[in-house]
Amino acid sequence: MEELPHASHTIAEFVRGYEEGGVLRGFHCPACDLLTATWSLACPRCGRRDLEERTLGTQGRVAAFTLLNVPGDEFLNDAPYAYVVVELEAGGRVTGWMPTVRSVADLAIGDPVHFVPSYKPGVQFAKDRGPSPGG
Ligand SMILES: [Zn+2]
Repeated sequence: MEELPHASHTIAEFVRGYEEGGVLRGFHCPACDLLTATWSLACPRCGRRDLEERTLGTQGRVAAFTLLNVPGDEFLNDAPYAYVVVELEAGGRVTGWMPTVRSVADLAIGDPVHFVPSYKPGVQFAKDRGPSPGG
């Protein structure tokens, strides 16, 4: 029987990380330096299998987005919403969604956004509101 490649986390553990600590986790490839939030057994760029886990930043900017009016079952009550690609400030790209975006006028490429922990599947983002609230 062929041995499967080893991974330090199961998909369930990885997804749970989003929900429990408000932490975005991803992987770094020591061979080609790719940083990705996409869970995988091997680097999508060079194929290396022993990836290092990294905690990703939670701030980023919108690199691309589209508005979804006909979502999957889990998001039926949230449509319309934006499906976004976010370039994280600390490195890495994440695909996620933004329930607060109802039309293309609500969002623009380059808008600053931040990760919002959610019970829903996927990585949820919200737009930054001007200066940080602070104390
Ligand atoms: Zn690689």
